[in-house]
Amino acid sequence: MPLNIRFSPEDERLRGDIRAFLHTELTDDLIDAGRRASGMFVDRPIARIWQQKLNRRGWGAVHWPPQYGGTGWSPAQLFIFREECARAGAPSVLNQGANLLAPALFAYASDEQKARYLPKILTGEHYWCQGYSEPGSGSDLASLQTRAVRDGDDYVVNGTKIWTTHAHFADHIFCLVRTSTDGRPQQGISFLLFEMDQPGVRVEPIITLAGDHEVNQVFFDDVRVPVANRIGEENQGWTVAKHLLEYERGSGGVAAGLKIHLNELKRVATHAIDGEAPLIEEPAFARKLQELEIRFQALEFTELSTLARLVSGAHPGSGASSQFKIASADLQQGIDTLQLEFAAYYGVPNHARISLNGSNELVVGPAHAELAASTYLTSRAASIYGGSHQVQRNIIAKAVLGL
Ligand SMILES: Cc1cc2nc3c(=O)[nH]c(=O)nc-3n(C[C@H](O)[C@H](O)[C@H](O)COP(=O)(O)OP(=O)(O)OC[C@H]3O[C@@H](n4cnc5c(N)ncnc54)[C@H](O)[C@@H]3O)c2cc1C
Repeated sequence: MPLNIRFSPEDERLRGDIRAFLHTELTDDLIDAGRRASGMFVDRPIARIWQQKLNRRGWGAVHWPPQYGGTGWSPAQLFIFREECARAGAPSVLNQGANLLAPALFAYASDEQKARYLPKILTGEHYWCQGYSEPGSGSDLASLQTRAVRDGDDYVVNGTKIWTTHAHFADHIFCLVRTSTDGRPQQGISFLLFEMDQPGVRVEPIITLAGDHEVNQVFFDDVRVPVANRIGEENQGWTVAKHLLEYERGSGGVAAGLKIHLNELKRVATHAIDGEAPLIEEPAFARKLQELEIRFQALEFTELSTLARLVSGAHPGSGASSQFKIASADLQQGIDTLQLEFAAYYGVPNHARISLNGSNELVVGPAHAELAASTYLTSRAASIYGGSHQVQRNIIAKAVLGL
């Protein structure tokens, strides 16, 4: 029995406005670009077009507080917006500026810094990547080694960052750097913002198992960054970094996409393919699908309650955001695993659409299998990026259980 979320007439009117907007602005090109993306996010050119359209409508960052250009919508309205965008097939955009950096700026940046950066996130003019992880400093992030040394009004930055998503598209990076080696490792870190298109910044691609180019290694060689680009005090960047991580792990926004994915899997499984009985009639498959649906409902309600906290001015909280991160990544991987089981032979990369069977006959695979393998491989990373499951469990042990 599905849980029932009720929306007010005012919310439903907004839903109508959102649908009308999506109907006119979400072109087939944008929808196709989203569908064809086998990685997590569409490429920057598509992201920029979509962001500009949203911003022209006043929806460039619907979840931001109104004073910075957000909508002031209620949790239910934010939820509806995400649901409608996912249902209509809006492209999945990496918006690290709006979703990760902005909450850190609201809390720690000067007014001048907010005025410089926030409007350009809204317009899509700035596209940000996240310079946290380094080779050898992922889970143990505070051990990071990239150095920033003061030279007059600048820092001179040397070192390297790794797994930097979309660094090859980004024009800006928010970066954790070491400004001191005194005291605990956490005490010597600062949070800098700088441009990617400047001397000394080099981006090398890393191609994933799924064959996509989404992540990179970034090298800094005597990169000059004005001291004015530091967020918060020198050596206090760990506080800013942790605040940002709560939004990376636990601010929600994933349920709508997962729902579409789950519903699509169910829809296809309900139809007979090649004269075989629909897979949904197989008890083992039906049971796995139902388990995923139950977990999805729990996640959807957790996301709504998280939204309610965020709108009331609270931040996600480290324990809650870690729990949400684990639940959403597990669910995503569960859906993608079942999808690949369903695709079976056709899910094998390069066999997806057209292949030869054992008798050398041409076999055309079903459309639902086309991206099953690459999606499955891509979502393996969900339990690693943003902090691995093991690390999230350590956080829960401390923050929630007090161990
Ligand atoms: C697809 C993808 C995109 C990413 N994008 C970005 C990005 O844009 N920017 C960025 O800065 N980083 C990014 N990352 C990096 C990500 O944050 C790190 O991969 C992650 O924090 C894990 O760090 P690591 O890879 O160094 O693994 P390690 O820290 O070396 O961990 C290896 C294994 O040891 C386990 N482990 C480590 N410490 C503990 C412990 N204390 N207790 C129990 N188990 C432990 C881990 O769970 C893991 O299984 C991305 C990663 C991926 C896969």
